[in-house]
Amino acid sequence: MKVFKFGGASVKDAQAVRNVGNILQAYQDEKILMIVSAMGKTTNALERMASGYFYDIPENKEVLNQSIDFHLNICQELFGEQGDCGKEIEKDFLDIPHLIEQHKESGYDLVYDQVVSLGEWASTKIVSTYLNQLGLGTHWLDVIQCVKTDAIHREATVNWEKTEKEIQNSVVPLFESKNFVMTQGFTGQTDDGLITTLGREGSDYSAAIFSYCLDAENMTVWKDVEGILNADPRKFKQVTKLDRISYKEAIEMTYYGAKVIHPKTIKPLQNKSIPLHVKSFLEPSEKGTIISDLSEENYPPIVVVEPEQTLLHISTKDFSFVAEHHLSHLFASFAQQKIKVNMMRNTAISFSVCVTHREKRIQELLEQLQKEFNIEKNEGLELITIRYYTPAIIEQLKQDKIVVMEERIKNTIQMVVKTISIPKQIN
Ligand code: ASP
Repeated sequence: MKVFKFGGASVKDAQAVRNVGNILQAYQDEKILMIVSAMGKTTNALERMASGYFYDIPENKEVLNQSIDFHLNICQELFGEQGDCGKEIEKDFLDIPHLIEQHKESGYDLVYDQVVSLGEWASTKIVSTYLNQLGLGTHWLDVIQCVKTDAIHREATVNWEKTEKEIQNSVVPLFESKNFVMTQGFTGQTDDGLITTLGREGSDYSAAIFSYCLDAENMTVWKDVEGILNADPRKFKQVTKLDRISYKEAIEMTYYGAKVIHPKTIKPLQNKSIPLHVKSFLEPSEKGTIISDLSEENYPPIVVVEPEQTLLHISTKDFSFVAEHHLSHLFASFAQQKIKVNMMRNTAISFSVCVTHREKRIQELLEQLQKEFNIEKNEGLELITIRYYTPAIIEQLKQDKIVVMEERIKNTIQMVVKTISIPKQIN
């Protein structure tokens, strides 16, 4: 049994859905559990609808009809009519304002999950109907039957014990009558029957949950790139595809901010040594990248750039040393404000920390700490991490930049940088 995950870009329009059908023709004789994301940018549209109706923002409400039309057009192109799934989608989307009203008292995060999960629901309805029409027998499975979570809405934690039992009970029998089973990613259900989500881009993680619980032979994430690259092709001209990487390297890359795969995906796979393939849905016969126990001996330099960084220089007011009790107090405050610490350094009387910029959270942190500490803030920075660095690549990446903090550990260099804006010549 294999697990496939098709992301939003792979089902962004009717042509893309047909392409998914073509890919699957080659796997007709295999048992495949498929996770399919919301189509194109539907999750963003549903986020706008949720806030539009919850907070009464008129321009966000407009997205509702656009999103219905988007799905109905795809149905029309694929089936020559709206079909039953088009009608169901229209009915459920039109019900969104009522759904929000019904849950309003429980707060925004709970409402968000009930609304945003409709994107995966709609796409799996369309894609599974299409595959069945092609003759590729596919069961549609409601994921909430299987993935059980706590009630932390928008960031739910999976209850592995219950989930494993439910997946075994619901999925395994389905494979007796058809080779393909399709379900939704990103979503789960609380003990009270409410829908939860696992965090944006969480479908990779959902696929890993199913892979783990079904002891899959392997898992494949189908993407619009040829595999895992050593740098972001939107930022760098010359990039190299990595043929093989270890689970450890994949975890390191996601930790430093590489958007290759959802960070939680690797652990369940590594625990059962299930290889993860990252392949292009545009060139499905190409090898892509394999993430597994086996690693490449020599990695090329791997570059990750994290924008929107802020550096905080924190020093004691009385010139006393920054001691352990200060640090524990500071970290408790970062955790409380949910501020992500990406790099840090301390000297005798100061502590410098590079954090992801979140205006409101940082403001609250400063208010909390300024009685005890002097704090200087430096915004508009980038954090560049290079694994397996060479002197040449460091020099290249430093061009037009001022390095404000730097740290080297084995195999890895991190630089917090500010881009120098070159003043225009006045003639
Ligand atoms: N549709 C969700 C999102 O865009 C989950 C996913 O596709 O991974 O975040």
